[in-house]
Amino acid sequence: MKVVVLVGGVGGARFLLGVKAALGLPAIGEAESSEHEITAVVNVGDDVWMHGLRVCPDLDTCMYTLADGIDTAKGWGRVDETWSVKEELAAYGAEPTWFGLGDRDIATHLVRSRMLRAGYSLSAVTEALCDRWRPGVRLLPVTDDRVETHVAIDDPDTGESRAVHFQEWWVRYRSEPEAHAIVPVGADEAKPTPEVLDAIAQADVVLLAPSNPVVSIGTLLAVPGFRTALRETKAAVVGLSPIIGGKPLRGMADACLSAIGVETSAEAVGRHYGARGDAEGILDGWLVHSDDTADVPGVKVRSVPLLMSDVDATAAMARAAFDLASEKA
Ligand code: GDP
Ligand code: CA
Repeated sequence: MKVVVLVGGVGGARFLLGVKAALGLPAIGEAESSEHEITAVVNVGDDVWMHGLRVCPDLDTCMYTLADGIDTAKGWGRVDETWSVKEELAAYGAEPTWFGLGDRDIATHLVRSRMLRAGYSLSAVTEALCDRWRPGVRLLPVTDDRVETHVAIDDPDTGESRAVHFQEWWVRYRSEPEAHAIVPVGADEAKPTPEVLDAIAQADVVLLAPSNPVVSIGTLLAVPGFRTALRETKAAVVGLSPIIGGKPLRGMADACLSAIGVETSAEAVGRHYGARGDAEGILDGWLVHSDDTADVPGVKVRSVPLLMSDVDATAAMARAAFDLASEKA
């Protein structure tokens, strides 16, 4: 089976572990051989230049998580990390100091930045990095063009309105200043890569991980042509709600949803994605958590446990999504 999963960072990466397990693949690492093929289309809106290095948080979270390189307690960054470079940068007073780049992690960014400067595409760079990590999932950035999510806020120090990179809002300010707008800068001129379009066209099933609907999945959908590809694929498209009991699980997705005027509920997010039968909609099926209900016209909704507490529970979520997808025809 060919499965395409749309993902952001931590939520997406954890879900991919379950998708692998549901297909009988090792959750961590690569199978020797398999009839199944999993492709993850990964958000690039969080990507940022830091100290001259290109950092791709969501791609790296997926890569490290699937290959046992992640710091599982934090959910991002490398396991057994050390922070000498960060301390030295702070000693120089080199801004920004609020973004933690660990020493091991920096090696990834050095390789990436060097390849990008030599003219390789982000897709090619990601493939090269995955040659080492062998995540067992094909990781595809949605686009090789530069798309960066920016957030309009009132500066907490000066009170003046300004646009900051998503990372600054999320990491430095913990998403506390209200987001007046969230804009995927550059998306209008970006194109999905041919590999991404091809994977969606060839897929048997497309799943939306329970990733942030605005700054992860929303940024993918902002790349022109991507939504159309989802609407036109022969595969069933099934999403899983990141909102449980009216709250996001870990993280601050509610602050993002308010910025785009969508209520923080499984139903509102399902309606926001919309039915494939309607103009602009992308879903055939929508999974919500056991105690939640959602009425999304034109979309099959099912309630199942959606807590990714361990790989088994997450694999059960993926199986429920496959079941709902197979009901489409
Ligand atoms: P990020 O890029 O690291 O923020 O990660 P994602 O966008 O991929 O995922 C973040 C989303 O995952 C948040 O909005 C959470 O609500 C959701 N999430 C985290 N853990 C769980 C879980 O156990 N179950 C469900 N359904 N959603 C979760
Ligand atoms: Ca992210």
